[in-house]
Amino acid sequence: MILNKNRTSLKHILLFALFSLLMMSCGSTKLKTHEFPNAFDTSNHPIKYQVKKAYFVDGITADNEFDGARLNNFTKENDSIFVATILPENEPINPSAHYAFRVSSDKKRIINIKLNYPTATHRYWPKLSNDGKNWKPIDSTNFKLIDSAKNAMLTLAIDKNKLWIAAQELNTSTDAKNWAKNLANHKDVRFKTVGKSKLNRDLIALDIYNGEVKKKETIVILSRQHPPEVSGYMAMQAFVEEIVKDNRLANDFRKKYRVLVYPMLNPDGVDLGHWRHNSGGIDMNRDWAYYRQQEIKTIVNNIVDVTNNSKNNVILGIDFHSTQTDLYYTFTDDMHPTIYPFKDYWLKAIDDALPNYTPDDRPYAIGDPISKGWFYLQFKAESITYEIGDETPRDFIKLKAEVAAREMMKLLILK
Ligand SMILES: [Zn+2]
Repeated sequence: MILNKNRTSLKHILLFALFSLLMMSCGSTKLKTHEFPNAFDTSNHPIKYQVKKAYFVDGITADNEFDGARLNNFTKENDSIFVATILPENEPINPSAHYAFRVSSDKKRIINIKLNYPTATHRYWPKLSNDGKNWKPIDSTNFKLIDSAKNAMLTLAIDKNKLWIAAQELNTSTDAKNWAKNLANHKDVRFKTVGKSKLNRDLIALDIYNGEVKKKETIVILSRQHPPEVSGYMAMQAFVEEIVKDNRLANDFRKKYRVLVYPMLNPDGVDLGHWRHNSGGIDMNRDWAYYRQQEIKTIVNNIVDVTNNSKNNVILGIDFHSTQTDLYYTFTDDMHPTIYPFKDYWLKAIDDALPNYTPDDRPYAIGDPISKGWFYLQFKAESITYEIGDETPRDFIKLKAEVAAREMMKLLILK
């Protein structure tokens, strides 16, 4: 009897130990929620859809009938000035006044178009294109700020062919999908659809590694939470392309590490020509503790699930954005992510590799519920917001991103 009782107890103890182990491993996979001093209401807020149409005014046609477009009205002010009115998806909103539309004319004409922002001020230097794919910045002689720099005036030579005018080069959710699928022609790159946006657009990912995926330490790359931040998106593209190249460094890196890329977090906002928010009317980069927005919820669950399934430690997260100038938002030195002090070595290496450029390091502690803090709180990972200036020369964006990817690979491969 006593023996039996002991056996039963032993069985219970063993079962309990097994249960505890299971709970512990489950515990590590769970999405963590966090309290932040500044709480953000990231529940859905209504957005105002622009009317998709062609405006016909005095022989001029202007339209917004394409993905990424933003034109809320088109009118004539006088014989030489037409007015393109640009409004945000909702308010309050960060003043990143995105615009994109096409104009054409029955006959060859020189016209002035006023970019009119009733609720904001002009931000982006206009880009022109004849096909929506190849772009060049407007010549400075044909552009000026007016109304105390609130609005802007463009002088354009137009004819019957559509001229595209946009805040930044268009890179829609379809473009991102085509780019990602093309990269997946490489044997080490897998294209995945990990879920849907609120308006049912695909949320896409690239899963990059060579050989056995199990236990590979993992780097996560994000882009395009904020629709007009195309210069950051361009950096992300060049960065990822460098990791996928066939050279000794990149090949060895993919043998040792897994890289998960989510290139287009906000496909609805991008295709709707939004200034900042998703179709839930929310700045997605304030939802990384609440997971109320479908896109964030889907992406964080995917990151946690796939890395848990393959026993991958996430050691580094990089989120690509755009702002006024090139800079890196990093952590203060009192925080010690698992690969500390990777950031210092990395920025120094980028500095050394580019003689005419000095990285602008902006360390700050965890403050708002953004992706940077999430990587640390969820995985204790190093995390950097990689910011590119709106008008940073496009060839330099590419060059710097390639350098940054190579220096990251060199450092991590020797870890
Ligand atoms: Zn941003």
